Amino acid sequence: MKRSKQLDQYATSVGEDVLNTIYKKASDLRGLHVLHINTTVKGGGVAEILEGLDPIVRDFDITHSRKIIQLDEDASHFTTHLLNLLQGNEPGEISAADREKFLTWLGQARLSEHEDQADIYLVHDYQLVPLAQLYPWLQPAVWFCHVDTAQPNPQAKRYMQEFLDSYQLCIFNSELSVFPEIQSQLAHVITLGIDPFRRKNASMARDHGLKLLQQCGIDTQRPLLTQVARYDRWKNPWQAIDVYRLVKQQIPTVQFAFVGAMEATDDKGAVEVLHDLQRYAEDDKDIHFLYDPAVIRDDEVNAFQRYSSVILQRSTREGFGLTTTEAMWKNQPVIGTSATGLRTQLVDGENGYIVDDTQACAERTLELLQRRDLWQQLGQNAHRYVGKHYLLPMMVLSYLDALEKVYSRSIQQSSSERSSNSDRNTAAD
Ligand code: UDP
Repeated sequence: MKRSKQLDQYATSVGEDVLNTIYKKASDLRGLHVLHINTTVKGGGVAEILEGLDPIVRDFDITHSRKIIQLDEDASHFTTHLLNLLQGNEPGEISAADREKFLTWLGQARLSEHEDQADIYLVHDYQLVPLAQLYPWLQPAVWFCHVDTAQPNPQAKRYMQEFLDSYQLCIFNSELSVFPEIQSQLAHVITLGIDPFRRKNASMARDHGLKLLQQCGIDTQRPLLTQVARYDRWKNPWQAIDVYRLVKQQIPTVQFAFVGAMEATDDKGAVEVLHDLQRYAEDDKDIHFLYDPAVIRDDEVNAFQRYSSVILQRSTREGFGLTTTEAMWKNQPVIGTSATGLRTQLVDGENGYIVDDTQACAERTLELLQRRDLWQQLGQNAHRYVGKHYLLPMMVLSYLDALEKVYSRSIQQSSSERSSNSDRNTAAD
């Protein structure tokens, strides 16, 4: 059995049994080619997940290739509207005209049967769900939903469900997001995981980390609150600023950083959110907006997550929230909300806090700033919790499980098709 050096590094943390299960599954899938289809090369959780999986599956002789379907302006508008309904449960609907326009656009040879051949097609995210129906050769196909679908607008959910029959498996990243209407054998939950050996998560000397923060304009002699996230309304950066302002009334030296490199080419609303936030911040020199991807690279994200005084994650909706996992790994008790992905990871009062209210969040933040012993204790619990539940091998295992389900079903299906063809031929003879 071929082993992966990268995976073997986890022997002491996850144990040989887990690794052997992974190797066994991987050897049954050797030679498989999976095409991943999404809307952006870099930025956000999808890119992060694939960057984690790619080198490991390469060691297993499983090929991953990528197809990026870049959204144009109208398609982006449609996508934003759909997300607000699906994730935000906002009132409204998908009009017949909008739907028709988007499906026509998506159906215009975005994929080529000749060039995009693979053994399994993995369609990422909500807006691309019609692909398997629009391109019937895309079989077997898997849909991977990354957003928070725990409380969808019913009309938006019906729109999504119309396309699900063309998929052999629907993946969600939290049990809470699974559409209850999907038959259990067609639903799969992938446990996400982070790679502690990657630059973004690897250990970093304090001096070096503080120097990077200084280079980003932070005064490292003073307390710092940070939220790392894309500039997106569902990450609720406004509340993070409100929390900072309440804390500043008690601790005037406190600073706030919002860290979100604008890399995702499908994130057209990010600039609008940034401009709105800049107005909201009213020239407060202690509020830092960091968005330039040439400045905010993996090391800087690492430094902010590791050496901020307190990490906030104020999302009102969250599919999973890898930024929280990453910060927890770096011994940070994140002050999150009850959004789906955050309450999946956070255990209130043990490895962080779950608070939705601004005032309550400010009180927790003050507590963690003033009681560093408590901050340290909860941070250690957070690190251990991620080590137990959310490291890369767990994600690799549940990803291989998904491939195995789809692959074995497609083999069964083609062998039953072969036997019914041969029955027909025999009958014709
Ligand atoms: N990220 C980053 N640079 C930034 C902000 C975020 O590399 O400036 C990464 C972050 O470390 C995480 C991912 O983008 O790995 C965001 O994933 P998450 O699941 O938190 O949210 P999503 O963007 O998918 O909604």
